[in-house]
Amino acid sequence: MLACREAIAILGDYVAAELGGEAAQRLERHLAECDECVAYLRTYRRTRQLAAGAMRTEMPAALRARLREFLLSTLRRR
Ligand SMILES: [Zn+2]
Repeated sequence: MLACREAIAILGDYVAAELGGEAAQRLERHLAECDECVAYLRTYRRTRQLAAGAMRTEMPAALRARLREFLLSTLRRR
């Protein structure tokens, strides 16, 4: 099974529909069993939408990186 760390690393591409078929399937299998990553995906999608609405552009790379760091630090604290 995909580790959370790996799942999070490719999640941005998945949301942007830039992830290839096999990788997307591996991620979906992980999401089926991991509540934390599902919660992250939800937050990520919402933030992305807000960013798109406010700036009429893709979520900036800096914001994506910050969001990812935030979840990784949450996982480390468990
Ligand atoms: Zn996970």
